Amino acid sequence: MRKPLVAGNWKMNGSSASNKLLLDAILAQRDSFASVDVALFPPALYVQQVQSALTDTGLFWGTQNVSQFDSGAYTGEISATMLRDFGCQYVLIGHSERRCLYAELNLDQVFLDHIIAEKSEITVRHGITPIICIGESPEEHSMGRTEEMVARLMDILIAQQGVELLSKAVLAYEPVWAIGTGKTASPEWAQDVHSFMRQRVAKHDPKIAASLRILYGGSVKGNNAAPLFAKPDIDGGLIGGGSRDADEFVQICQAAA
Ligand code: PGA
Repeated sequence: MRKPLVAGNWKMNGSSASNKLLLDAILAQRDSFASVDVALFPPALYVQQVQSALTDTGLFWGTQNVSQFDSGAYTGEISATMLRDFGCQYVLIGHSERRCLYAELNLDQVFLDHIIAEKSEITVRHGITPIICIGESPEEHSMGRTEEMVARLMDILIAQQGVELLSKAVLAYEPVWAIGTGKTASPEWAQDVHSFMRQRVAKHDPKIAASLRILYGGSVKGNNAAPLFAKPDIDGGLIGGGSRDADEFVQICQAAA
C-alpha cells in the first residue's frame, strides 16, 4: 500500500552539460521503473534545468535544504514559499552533511532537531513533502545508541508539530557511518531500525504509521538495493553517490519497482 520512493541527492555535483546527459539517460529508461516515485535533488542553481527536463515525465524534483523562515534577512537561504512558487514537490531536511555544517557553529544537536521540526512544519504548510533525515553518527553507532538517537528527533518532531505532520512527510533513516563510505547497513539492521521508527509513530497513530514511507540511505548501489528494498519496512532509498550515474541510479530505481 506504500508506493516506493527513490530520491537522488546530487549534493554539490553536476554541471549543465553533465546534468543533461544524466537526465536524458534516466528518462530514456523511465518505463522500467514506472511503479516507483522518483525524485531528484539538484543543487539549487540547477533546479530550473531539472524542473523543465522533468515536466510531464512523472518524475519529481526537490531541493537539498529549506529555511525555517518565510522571508527576510537570511542571506543564502531559500524559503518554502519560493519553492512552492516553482512547483517544488519534495525537500530534504536535516541531512547529516547539513547537520555537520551547522555543528561547526557549535549548535547543540537537540536545538538542531527543533529547527528540523520547524523546517518540516513550514514545508508541509506550503504543500511540499519533507524527507526528514535521521541517523546515528559512527560514535553513537559503536556505543549502541542508534535507537536513542533516532527516537530523539522523532519525539521532538511529534511533540513539537504533532503526529499528523508525518501523514504528509517521508522519513529517511540515514546512518552517518554508511553515507559515502561504502559501508551499507545490512538489510536486517536497516529493517530493525525502520521497524523501530514505524512503531514509535504507531504509538501515537497506527494509521499514520502504516502509511508512512521510510527510506534507507547510505551507500545504496545497484548491486545492494534489492535486498534492502525487499524488507517490509523499507519503502525505498535516499541515494547520494549512486544518483550521479545513470545506469547505477536506474538499477536502484528498478530494484524498488
Ligand atoms: P551515499 O549518500 O549514497 O553517497 O552514501 C547518501 C546520502 O547522503 O543521502
